[in-house]
Amino acid sequence: MHEMSISLSILDIIKEEASKVSSKKVNEIVLEIGSLSGVEVESLSFALEVSFTEPLVQDCEVIINKIEARSRCNECQKEFPCESLFSQCTHCNSYSSKLICGKEIQLKSLVVE
Ligand SMILES: [Zn+2]
Repeated sequence: MHEMSISLSILDIIKEEASKVSSKKVNEIVLEIGSLSGVEVESLSFALEVSFTEPLVQDCEVIINKIEARSRCNECQKEFPCESLFSQCTHCNSYSSKLICGKEIQLKSLVVE
């Protein structure tokens, strides 16, 4: 499962960050998942639940923020929400655009004890 390997790498990052501040407990993490990242938020939160067994992350609250993908049109320079990499500009109907956000899979913040 794709989401399982993502949750394990998230766990690795959490461990690294926690050891930097010599923390033994992480209370909360905030993740940002783009709508075009290919990650199923439901599967990811399940995978996180399964992999968060260590004392460090037990009872850790996981907040997942979904980031809606947006593109900037190369023709009219306006931004618009998009559902795929090749979306049509909603302002001028151009197909030439650049993705601004929506592919992120990242740990935004974490709160340690
Ligand atoms: Zn446009």
